[in-house]
Amino acid sequence: MRVIDAVTEAAPGSDNEDLWLAGDNWALVLDGAGRYPGESGGCVHPITWVVARLGEHIAKNLDARPTDRLTELVRDAVCATMANHGPACDMSDPLSPGAACAVARHTGSHVEWLVVADCAVVIEDPDGDCTAVIDDRVDRLSGAPVTTERVRTYRPDYVRTVRNKPEGFWVLGAVPEAADHALIGSVPAAMVKRVLICSDGISRLTERYDWTWRQAFDRFDQVGAKGLVKAVRKAEDTDVEPTRWRGKPHDDATAVVLSGR
Ligand SMILES: [Zn+2]
Repeated sequence: MRVIDAVTEAAPGSDNEDLWLAGDNWALVLDGAGRYPGESGGCVHPITWVVARLGEHIAKNLDARPTDRLTELVRDAVCATMANHGPACDMSDPLSPGAACAVARHTGSHVEWLVVADCAVVIEDPDGDCTAVIDDRVDRLSGAPVTTERVRTYRPDYVRTVRNKPEGFWVLGAVPEAADHALIGSVPAAMVKRVLICSDGISRLTERYDWTWRQAFDRFDQVGAKGLVKAVRKAEDTDVEPTRWRGKPHDDATAVVLSGR
């Protein structure tokens, strides 16, 4: 599974809390789950540190344990990341920093995926049809109160009650079971032409701006991964009503396109 092209780009004017990594037969994208205004999440580390630790541990496990299940590799990576925090951090805080994650792995016969929170895996089949694996649990919370301050977001006191909870949503970072609640699956490798894994800074093309994934692959073929981010920025800049969305007007954007073989 070869990387055809990849990009990661911070939202204008901020640090990049996304990360992508790839090995011989796998690739991953992480998207740091940002802190809530006025909340430390019980942790002294920057989000980028948490994302880097998670990436390092997941990558090491993918390389060392090619036949273990993706959920086990990710679960163990969360445990190793928790151990890295040290005694200054309280991992029991429900707002502890974490990350969304998407992993794709080629086993020889199959392409497998794992998705948690705001990252996506999109499979393009040999006919050009696209199937997206999206974890939209955070968008399906019933009766979620939204606050409009710097950006529209859920109220932190509400998030405490649903983050890393059954019936709520999951992020990787401070709760190993989050890995067990990831969306996982596989398809025969013969059914896969290419795989796109991305953060929601890219998937907002389909979620906010009515693109199809076919259009995203077609644009990628014309302008590459960097051009895909340009398309996102253009859509954001010309959004007639950006305040209708929960979340930031711009977000870090990461895309990795892989060949299915
Ligand atoms: Zn910490």
